Amino acid sequence: MTTRTRFAPSPTGPLHMGGVRTALYAYLFAKQQQGKFILRIEDTDQNRYVPGAEEYIIEALTWCGIIPDEGVGFGGKHEPYRQSERKHKGFYMNYAQQLLNNGNAYYAFDRPEDIDIARKNAETDGVQGWQYDASTRMGMRNSLSLPEQEVRHLLDQGTQYVIRLKVNPGQTLTFTDMIRGEVSFDSSLVDDKVLIKADGMPTYHLAHIVDDIMMEITHAIRGEEWLPSAPAHILIYQYLGIPMPLYAHLPLLLKPEGNGKLSKRDGDRLGFPVFPLQWKDPVTGEISSGYREKGYYPESFVNMLAMLGWNPGTEQEVFTMEELINAFSFERVHKAGARFDPDKAKWYNEQRLRHSNDEELGLKFSMELKSILGEEDPRSSHDFATGAVKLLKERVQFENEFYETGKYLFEAPSTYDEKVIAKRWNEKSKTFFQALPDVLTKVEHFTAENCKAAFEQLATEQGMKPGDVLQLFRVIVSGQGSGVDLFGMVELLGRSEIISRIQKALTSI
Ligand code: GLU
Repeated sequence: MTTRTRFAPSPTGPLHMGGVRTALYAYLFAKQQQGKFILRIEDTDQNRYVPGAEEYIIEALTWCGIIPDEGVGFGGKHEPYRQSERKHKGFYMNYAQQLLNNGNAYYAFDRPEDIDIARKNAETDGVQGWQYDASTRMGMRNSLSLPEQEVRHLLDQGTQYVIRLKVNPGQTLTFTDMIRGEVSFDSSLVDDKVLIKADGMPTYHLAHIVDDIMMEITHAIRGEEWLPSAPAHILIYQYLGIPMPLYAHLPLLLKPEGNGKLSKRDGDRLGFPVFPLQWKDPVTGEISSGYREKGYYPESFVNMLAMLGWNPGTEQEVFTMEELINAFSFERVHKAGARFDPDKAKWYNEQRLRHSNDEELGLKFSMELKSILGEEDPRSSHDFATGAVKLLKERVQFENEFYETGKYLFEAPSTYDEKVIAKRWNEKSKTFFQALPDVLTKVEHFTAENCKAAFEQLATEQGMKPGDVLQLFRVIVSGQGSGVDLFGMVELLGRSEIISRIQKALTSI
């Protein structure tokens, strides 16, 4: 049997990073098993539909490289399955009808206000947690409690109804979760879930089962929040006489502090995105930041997500998608929630940046420099940019930090680290820097090594240790007491720029 997994988001807003992780695990597993990964948009709840959310989901998955294998062909574009488009084909109603025919489901005519009254009455009687189930259904208006004739009359009249699952109490419902192992529930605690709503739309409970059956899903991978509904789902499969796919309920992503579900508010509070891409709320216009816009590599974002709740059982932390596909397994997904660590997220990006090719980074950086300094500026050349990248690479976590971090490579300093000046600037060091331009003029090949040797020789000649003037030299060249490799910077900036910076410092310090 071919493995078939699906990601089944509801288009109710931007995709949370936890949702991306669900998609990722479903994708990794399908690919590893040479199976298929399917995207299905679960848009049956029209009250919660948010314009732009579906496009957002597709764009986010595409950015991450989580590409569905299947969908309905539409104008040459790969489109996902949509439940709203499947509804009119009668798929959901057919299954509901089967459950009705077999006495496993029933019509319920109660209006929302009737249910509120029942709940309030129960509360008045001191009963908390009222639900529509075997213990209460006979007191409600449905095809089990009303005479058959009345039911027929109500249906003929076109009275609004929902179809509910008939849950028999006193049974133990068991299934084997791919992460949690055997899980059992007492059916007495399960409510008679609505399967078809008053607007004729199926609920999630029915729709996902019908679709998983029809799409021949072998592994249903979803968030832990669905575990409490699993017993109702087991029952529906039992009633239909169809074997369940294997379910995996993924652990929650937790706040950096470790307790509670990771929310957008945590991101706002601590300054990290919880969405893969930036999202503009269509109603309020509020903008939420995204990993893409922050400068994350999609590969690093995916790598970081994969490690949130799964471990490979080895020391390896940096993975490509191919490596993740090979290494992934549900046995190594933890049952407990996974604490999100924003610094670690940056670390994955930093690792990838460190291992990127200098020439390629330089090409991208040179484009950025051209837009800042102008096309003609020699410092926006590919060569100069690559040289800068080599110096800066170990000091940044994102490509978009190159310019700000290495600003002194593009601008002579106008201020000088005061602490270093106060400590080191005196008659002796001044004499040294007055003599240095001459020495540097005579260096034949202006390389880091040669400049360093000349610098050290001059210090010795003047009766100093190189260390006495080294940090001052850095401050003179860059304005700062610490930064990139000093003589590497000297070589990159070149003879005339270095000499001019020394002269500027001599007049302004
Ligand atoms: N539409 C459900 C959700 O967005 C999908 C759950 C599932 O994958 O079955 O949570």
